[in-house]
Amino acid sequence: MMTYRGKGVCGAIAIGKVSVFMRRSFNVKRIKIDNTEAERGRLEEAKKKAISQLSRIYEKALKEVGEANARIFEIHMMMVEDDDYNEAIIEMINSRNVNAEYAVAVTSDNFAAMFSSMDDAYMRERAADVKDISNRIIACLGNENDVEKNPDERVIICANDLAPSETVALDKDKVLAFVTAYGSANSHTAILARNMNIPAIIGVGEEFLSRIQNGDIAIADGYTGEFILNPDKDALEKANEKLFGDIEKKELLQKLKGKENVTIDGTTINIYANIGSVDNIGAVLLNDAGGIGLFRSEFLYLENSDYPSEEEQFKVYKRVLESMASKKVIIRTLDIGADKQADYFKLEKEENPALGLRAIRLCLERPDIFRTQLRALYRASVYGNLGIMFPMITSQTELKEIIALCEEVKKELSLDGIEFSDSIELGIMIETPAAAIISDRLAPMVDFFSIGTNDLTQYTLACDRQNPRIERFCDTHHEAVLRLVEISAKNAHKHGTWIGICGELAADTTLTEAFLRMGIDELSVSPPFVLKVRDAVRKIDLRSDSK
Ligand code: PEP
Ligand code: MG
Repeated sequence: MMTYRGKGVCGAIAIGKVSVFMRRSFNVKRIKIDNTEAERGRLEEAKKKAISQLSRIYEKALKEVGEANARIFEIHMMMVEDDDYNEAIIEMINSRNVNAEYAVAVTSDNFAAMFSSMDDAYMRERAADVKDISNRIIACLGNENDVEKNPDERVIICANDLAPSETVALDKDKVLAFVTAYGSANSHTAILARNMNIPAIIGVGEEFLSRIQNGDIAIADGYTGEFILNPDKDALEKANEKLFGDIEKKELLQKLKGKENVTIDGTTINIYANIGSVDNIGAVLLNDAGGIGLFRSEFLYLENSDYPSEEEQFKVYKRVLESMASKKVIIRTLDIGADKQADYFKLEKEENPALGLRAIRLCLERPDIFRTQLRALYRASVYGNLGIMFPMITSQTELKEIIALCEEVKKELSLDGIEFSDSIELGIMIETPAAAIISDRLAPMVDFFSIGTNDLTQYTLACDRQNPRIERFCDTHHEAVLRLVEISAKNAHKHGTWIGICGELAADTTLTEAFLRMGIDELSVSPPFVLKVRDAVRKIDLRSDSK
């Protein structure tokens, strides 16, 4: 038995036979050609074929992983047609009288090397894309119909790395999981795996491939990131337990769907879901969430290589609101900075980024960015039941400034004759001790509070949430954190403001009863936790004062 560790991408476990993914390797030879025109013609035909394959993959991706994730294949189609790339290939065919395969392979290496050397992380990732499309063109030059091959039985695919197109082309019914030696948890491949709901482990290191034989038994644990090759009896038993646990969870899901989130004594709680992209809405609906309690809008910025325009944002917010019909959708304004960085913001390096220019501070410092987002949100508001939430609040002054900006945006829209809803709820995140302590002052200014326990814990206990070395000091059940939750709930209710929790602690069912006793009205959790929390809520009787 050998255990390898990587990054688990999708919370699920798979046990089965492994199959090493063999990328067709193209042993491209340099051949001298006389008729360069005919060679260019071959190249054109191969490109047409490649585009038609990519458009089929795009359609498949659109169905399986949604528009945002499918976009990478639109980019691939554009790359096949890219002028610089094509000019370089043709120049090589014309000037060196070489075959098209060779010209494509050399150009691919040159472009990939250029992308790899760039500072921008997004551009560096394009190196894999240019290799991917070049391999496709070379395969098409050799009259191959498609570069992907699917296994015949359900297996754990093990590979050095997988390109996005290879990931999407995998037949979901044949793939138990995939494990790669390289890759990052934020790569397109990882994102696609998450959205396709395939358990995946990324970055276990190259060594594992040399130990594998096709047909070996392995466990791929997407929860822990462990890949166990030829597991012993004990490891198999444990993995099977987890697998049965997953099956039980699924059964629970079926049983609780459509049921109310109501305690034994009749108190109704809203259980909403947290999302980072429109693509997660399927999971929200599948898990029967009553609304969206936190849409982390910053992912829209993080996925882009430039500021998303008002129109782009408007379309996304409109889609989320329409998909949720009349259910509540709380969109949190940009929470960038600290651990969430996008190069194009050109933020200065800070000594203590978690205490720096992040979230609402950045928005108030750069009102042009904030105003664009607010305009997009207000415009989208007519398509559903919108709540707007502001992160990292510490004072009334900030909140007054925000409310004044919202009023200005509303006035502007009215003057432009653009409609917006008059029933948008405005709320703030309580994620700094300051906000919790002055929650009596903040409550009259807003419609709702949502407690960000991830940051509230970090700031209350002075524990950097990014630092794994201090995990044991970062007690999420610390009395100081729970007291701040209770203070906020009391102050909220005094002023008729509703209060929820959207940090990870909302899904911790050992605390559900305590939270309800404090008066928490809403819990917003990752979609797969909605039914688990519903189950906990339905077992609580608030009349008994056992706690
Ligand atoms: C939180 O801080 O608890 C929260 C929900 O926000 P994020 O995790 O995005 O900082
Ligand atoms: Mg936070």
